[in-house]
Amino acid sequence: VMRIVPAANQLQQNFQLLGHMLPAFASLQSILRDCRAARETPVAPQGLTPPTMLKLDRVSVFYPGKRALDAVSLDMPRNSILGLVGPSGAGKSTLADVMLGLLPPDEGAFLLDNVPLGAQTRLEWRHKVAYVPQDALLLPGTVRDNLKLARPDADDEALWHALEDAAAADFVRQRPEGLDSPVGERGGLFSGGERQRLALARALLRDPWLLVLDEVTSQLDAENEAKIAQSIARLRGKVGIVIVAHRPALLELADFTVRLENGQRVVA
Ligand code: ADP
Ligand code: MG
Repeated sequence: VMRIVPAANQLQQNFQLLGHMLPAFASLQSILRDCRAARETPVAPQGLTPPTMLKLDRVSVFYPGKRALDAVSLDMPRNSILGLVGPSGAGKSTLADVMLGLLPPDEGAFLLDNVPLGAQTRLEWRHKVAYVPQDALLLPGTVRDNLKLARPDADDEALWHALEDAAAADFVRQRPEGLDSPVGERGGLFSGGERQRLALARALLRDPWLLVLDEVTSQLDAENEAKIAQSIARLRGKVGIVIVAHRPALLELADFTVRLENGQRVVA
């Protein structure tokens, strides 16, 4: 054990170094985040019902040598839209991970209707949440293949419904092969804005109670951002949405906004 500890520390340090130095590594991390929630094996339902209120109660999260969240509290009513803002490194994605059930708080609690998310409910909760990162991963294959990753039993009607909600139906319909259109390596046969909308459609197929959009438009032009905004407006009241964003176009859609700085909630 004594020999493993320094090795593990070294590994952790290298890992952090890598994360800071390679943008590609950051995008790999977001892909992993995206897939973790989507790929988990089905669990027997524990009877979880859609919570009326999501609550963070003085949540702190520590990474080695780093406090990423510092006693953050917030209340998010069912099917509301929360805007999450703050500078890079403020803890926005970490907060999203807590709400997605991917990261248990080190201090404080994440509560569904005043019940802390525990070991039994965590897996089931993860099946009811969806995450779309900044540059969502499409796998080689067709539009249909990529959408069905989220729900293998979905029929075409369900696929088109999700595409409509994600403001993605028009450009898929315009392709002669429709749902059978190949997306290409890393989705390269579609534009960045189209890829993000396909990823959003895939997330919606999970029929989530909570949808986290983590800087989904930060690499898009105003026109594509407007399409995503149109989609969010359409989803209003049907699903809880956390919008992590910098630009006003999406934040205008939020019912309320939480600002993080240095892991702390500050006045928005
Ligand atoms: P944001 O999404 O607001 O840019 P993050 O939640 O990604 O911020 O990160 C908050 C802080 O925690 C940053 O300083 C970041 O470098 C650090 N951090 C994030 N993930 C890890 C990790 N896996 N290991 C160590 N530090 C991390
Ligand atoms: Mg982030």
